[in-house]
Amino acid sequence: MPAKHGDAALTSLLLNSGRDATTGAWPVDDFGISIALHQAAMHGHQAVVKLLLDAGAHPNEGIYSAAANGHVEIVEMLLDAGGDLVSVVEEASASNQADLVLALINRGGDVDLALERAVGGGGKETVQLLLDEGATCHQIDGCHNCVDAAIVSGNVDVLELLLAAGGKLHICDYCDGPTAIAAQHGHVNMLKLFLDRGWAIIHGRLGTLDVASIYGQTEMVKMLLSIGASPAEDGLCLVAAAGADSLDIVRVLLQAGADPHNAEAIQEAARCGHTEILQALVEAGADPRMIEDPALRQLVLSGIETGGAVVPNDCKLL
Ligand SMILES: [Zn+2]
Repeated sequence: MPAKHGDAALTSLLLNSGRDATTGAWPVDDFGISIALHQAAMHGHQAVVKLLLDAGAHPNEGIYSAAANGHVEIVEMLLDAGGDLVSVVEEASASNQADLVLALINRGGDVDLALERAVGGGGKETVQLLLDEGATCHQIDGCHNCVDAAIVSGNVDVLELLLAAGGKLHICDYCDGPTAIAAQHGHVNMLKLFLDRGWAIIHGRLGTLDVASIYGQTEMVKMLLSIGASPAEDGLCLVAAAGADSLDIVRVLLQAGADPHNAEAIQEAARCGHTEILQALVEAGADPRMIEDPALRQLVLSGIETGGAVVPNDCKLL
């Protein structure tokens, strides 16, 4: 395809050769022109982009791929032709293209929208640029702000930039707290930052250890235990790990003092058909007779008696 290879002359020839003398229609349909513009914009072929625009291609068909690949001049050309500024601000910011983002801001791009996307993409340079350009660490929805997005991204540099610029950690009873968000995503480096700075572990609606267990984040669980988190305080982490089929975490929690006589944990393992976890719990002292559901309890006890799988696979259906 000439558009992909940047052959402006050939593209011109193709466009001109088949033009309908009566209707003026171009030889390629709208879809064909769109693909050609996408290719030319992606590969930075400015002259071909110009030809395709003149031939009637819609600038939005190429603006995203031009932005994603850092072709600033082509983005400018497509914007001049009526391309959508918002979508290109989002793409350039998310992919940490500080030069392009600056050009877009100078064209009236929304600095706060750009900051949201830059934070999500973890681009330190672009975040700094946007803060310098007047972006603020704002609410993204009713509860979450840009700081939450930085924690989700796992980029500690971006988080520190936002906090230095006045961003606040989001703490409420309805959401996971900052360290719980880090735990969900397995961002051990984020937890280290909290510890290095002497900040408190902030749980939110669920404990950080519980969240790490729910999401199967073994390294995070180990780190939390190493700094004093207690699986004995409430049994939810063991129940969560049993339900999430996280055998490693179940073992780590039992070693760290989680109570195996936790009826909910063994019931959850049985209910979900997690045989190995159920075995680990039984080996640690759990009593299958604690399982409340009579049918499930009988199934597990029979399984143990016969020496086969503790829980048949079809237990998942119970
Ligand atoms: Zn909240």
